[in-house]
Amino acid sequence: MRRTLYTDEHEAFRSAFRTFLDREAVPNVEKWEQAGTVDRAFITSAAKSGFLGFEFDAEYGGLGIADFRYNAVMTEEVVASGMAGDTFSMQNDIIVPYLRDLTDDDQKARWLPKFTSGDCVTALGMTEPGAGSDLASIRTTARRDGDDLVIDGTKTFITSGATCDMAIVLVRTGERDGRGTSFVVVEAGTPGFERGRPMHKIGRKAQDTAELVFTNCRVPVSNIIDEPGRGFGSAVANLPRERLSIAVAAVASAAHALTLALNHVRDRVAFGAPLSDLQSVRMAIADMHTDIQVLQHYVDRCVLALDSGELTADDAAGAKYKATELQWDVVDRCLQLFGGYGYMEEYPIARIWRDARIQRIYGGANEVMKDLVGRAVVAR
Ligand SMILES: Cc1cc2nc3c(=O)[nH]c(=O)nc-3n(C[C@H](O)[C@H](O)[C@H](O)COP(=O)(O)OP(=O)(O)OC[C@H]3O[C@@H](n4cnc5c(N)ncnc54)[C@H](O)[C@@H]3O)c2cc1C
Repeated sequence: MRRTLYTDEHEAFRSAFRTFLDREAVPNVEKWEQAGTVDRAFITSAAKSGFLGFEFDAEYGGLGIADFRYNAVMTEEVVASGMAGDTFSMQNDIIVPYLRDLTDDDQKARWLPKFTSGDCVTALGMTEPGAGSDLASIRTTARRDGDDLVIDGTKTFITSGATCDMAIVLVRTGERDGRGTSFVVVEAGTPGFERGRPMHKIGRKAQDTAELVFTNCRVPVSNIIDEPGRGFGSAVANLPRERLSIAVAAVASAAHALTLALNHVRDRVAFGAPLSDLQSVRMAIADMHTDIQVLQHYVDRCVLALDSGELTADDAAGAKYKATELQWDVVDRCLQLFGGYGYMEEYPIARIWRDARIQRIYGGANEVMKDLVGRAVVAR
């Protein structure tokens, strides 16, 4: 069924971005997987072409385009390219709203131009070894000392943690009877801020994930973004967009896996005929195709709702868990259709399968998403 989400401008942007990926990412996918991170030169080049921070105003190097359909186009093309880095979704979908909406003019002038030039890859540090789903139990503290904050604690599983130039970190600043939290920017090179080594993951190998360790780390109080003590409120406001970004990637990944599987079953001959001649194979394809179509339309609608300010937390949580469950189901069934070839690293379906697994966990585990939706519906 024809999608109506995109205009000709979005499709022209898609084509330009795809050309960029074909030239600068596709030939390097294998190398980046081995290295555990994408080349810095790639990020600089993406920035030069306007693919980083385009929502920021022109005075900060952006294009002033706040239309999540462009973000969605980029996610779809990254998925189709086989590039398994989370660079664009992390920077454009997740980090941008923190830097655009929570910073004052001085902070914007300090950080946004470096972000749009590719000189400031940014990480978002919320999860801790003892606090993932239960973010309210974070222990990283930022004690006030004159005009400074002194940060102590550890963040874990942080995307771009090993390579980031700065991190936006959720810390306990103690307002509101000790419960207050704030987001604080910490720049690489600040004494007491240590970026860990990339963790060994089962997938997403071209995207580094690391610990961030703070020991007596001193930053100016002016590095707090948003109102001190409002950290959780800011996180709650931004999480629907992060979850929608994951949902967009999930549907794109399922659709891409199905395309690869279709090509395979049309060509692969068994028992004297292509696999696609088997009725059970066609039924599997019908199931997957129809599920993807249905969910694609829901996710597309969520993208429009985000742009019009109507996307609710439970809409986004529902999109996240449903799309990532579908992705896992489809990708696994598609791998099955490849038989033993699907288990071989040189077949893209193998990487798609291992990269898909994390989608049901990060951005809020799917069980937590279901709880959020259930509570919202019951309370209506
Ligand atoms: C590759 C990767 C990248 C990541 N990137 C970032 C990042 O950039 N920044 C960041 O801050 N974090 C990041 N994370 C962390 C991620 O968001 C957390 O791992 C996730 O929120 C789950 O937290 P946890 O691992 O502590 O699991 P736990 O909170 O210990 O939960 C474990 C499991 O328990 C179950 N569970 C938990 N709570 C409930 C509940 N209320 N109801 C029912 N079941 C429940 C779920 O099955 C869940 O998967 C990343 C993680 C990975 C692996």
